[in-house]
Amino acid sequence: MRLDDQQASDNVEDRRGIGVVGGGLGVGAVVIALVAYFLGFDPSTVLNVAEQVSTQRETPEAPKGAPADETGQFVAKILGSTEVVWGKIFQESNSQYRPPTLVLYDGEVRSTCGTAQSAMGPFYCPGDEKLYIDLAFFRELRTRFRAPGDFAQAYVIAHEVGHHVQKLTGTFQEMETARGRSSQAEMNRTSVRMELQADCYAGVWGHRAGTMNQLESGDIAEGLNAATAIGDDRLQKQTQGRVVPESFTHGSSEQRVRWFKRGLDSGSPTDCDTFSTRSL
Ligand SMILES: [Zn+2]
Repeated sequence: MRLDDQQASDNVEDRRGIGVVGGGLGVGAVVIALVAYFLGFDPSTVLNVAEQVSTQRETPEAPKGAPADETGQFVAKILGSTEVVWGKIFQESNSQYRPPTLVLYDGEVRSTCGTAQSAMGPFYCPGDEKLYIDLAFFRELRTRFRAPGDFAQAYVIAHEVGHHVQKLTGTFQEMETARGRSSQAEMNRTSVRMELQADCYAGVWGHRAGTMNQLESGDIAEGLNAATAIGDDRLQKQTQGRVVPESFTHGSSEQRVRWFKRGLDSGSPTDCDTFSTRSL
């Protein structure tokens, strides 16, 4: 990627090296109800956070603003780029984009949605409108998932930002409403629609980053390779040796690539309607 001209976003909270200290966990916080993991999102826990919020205690102060180190700068610039893109898109439909905060952490982090370990992968918490990323995941992406490249990393951030867009447009809300009357299998299918839409939104960002001259040759290939690497079928084959489509929560490699590409090709979020399409 070419980010020299991109301003780094100040909406970054750097909790690296701070950890979860002070006060211990409230009773309700023991229940982990994180939503919208990049990997392994369990839809049965979505937004069931109200009773936990009251038991959360304040986390120690973390520095705010773009971090100075190289990876921190990269992350802040990608976030800055998504703010430009989504700011414009929202403006086009006469509304205003409210940017999320990106929290960098290592090991463990507390959010309004509960306490998370880095092994769960990056996630978005609609309750506090923050994206949580342990940068160790970028290493995992390179080594364990064999998806190297800066655009692969950018795709991860843009996907989580995609969930934030879903929060702003009310998609999370609709999902919560539907949740009460759904079976586990139905919830999984809804989750796949949410995730593929977030992939498509990541593609929309990628398209517009391209028009801002931020893409280099090879970037698209890196992104598509990453989308392939984290498909549910691929991950299931790796971890349990077999593929169980009913338990998919994010979509197959083929689906993730297709929806990401769809956003990349069109640059328009209206092409990301994974909810009314008949075939995902
Ligand atoms: Zn996701």
